[in-house]
Amino acid sequence: MECMLKSPLIIFVMGGPGCGKGTQCKNMATKYGFCHVGLGQLLRQEAQRGTRRGQKIREIMLRGLLVPTGIILDMINDKMLSCPESRGFLIDGFPRELIQAKEFERIVGRPPDVVMVFDCSMETMVRRALHRGQVEHRGDDCEPAILQRLETHYTLCEPVFTFYQQKNLLRNVEAPENIFAKCCSVIESLQRLEGVGG
Ligand code: AMP
Repeated sequence: MECMLKSPLIIFVMGGPGCGKGTQCKNMATKYGFCHVGLGQLLRQEAQRGTRRGQKIREIMLRGLLVPTGIILDMINDKMLSCPESRGFLIDGFPRELIQAKEFERIVGRPPDVVMVFDCSMETMVRRALHRGQVEHRGDDCEPAILQRLETHYTLCEPVFTFYQQKNLLRNVEAPENIFAKCCSVIESLQRLEGVGG
C-alpha cells in the first residue's frame, strides 16, 4: 500500500456475523462517495474462482475460520488502488485479529481515522445470519460456521478493540435499531471530513 493512501479517510468497520456491516457500508459508501472494501464479498468472489487460492479461501470460509493475513492485505491493497480518486475507504470486516491491525499500520504508515464496531446481541446475529443463509444461500451462514465466526469475534477481535480503544479511535455503534443514522453521525464527527454532508 502506497503513500497516495495516506490522505483519504480510512474507516474500519467491525462486527460479528449478521450484524449488518455489509449493508451499512454499502449505504455509507453511496451517501459519502466512499469506496467500499467489503472483505467477505471480495473473498467470496475469489472463492468462486477455480484457482488453488480460491479453493483454499473457500474451505477456510466454509469452516468459519480466518483467511491468512497476507491474502487479506493483498485484497485490500488491490481494491484501494482500484479507487485512486476516492476521498474515503470503508474497510468492512477488518481487522479481525491484532496482527492485521498492526500490519496495516506498518504498511500504510498510519492507523485508520476511526474504527466502528457494531454492537449486536448474539441472538440477533445468529438469527439474522441463519435467515440470510436461507435466502442468499451463503455457504458459511450455516450453524457450525456461524458459531465459529462468533467465537472468532469474541476472542480474536477483543485485543483489536483494546488496541484502538487505547488510541481513542474506537466508536461503538449499537445495532440494529437506527443504525444508519448512528453510522452517519460517527462519520460526520470526523474533523478531517470537511464539507461532506449527504
Ligand atoms: P463477513 O462477510 O465479513 O462475515 O466475512 C465472511 C468470512 O470471510 C469470515 O468468516 C472469514 O472467513 C473471511 N474474512 C472476512 N474478513 C476477514 C479478515 N479481515 N481476515 C480473515 N478472514 C476474513
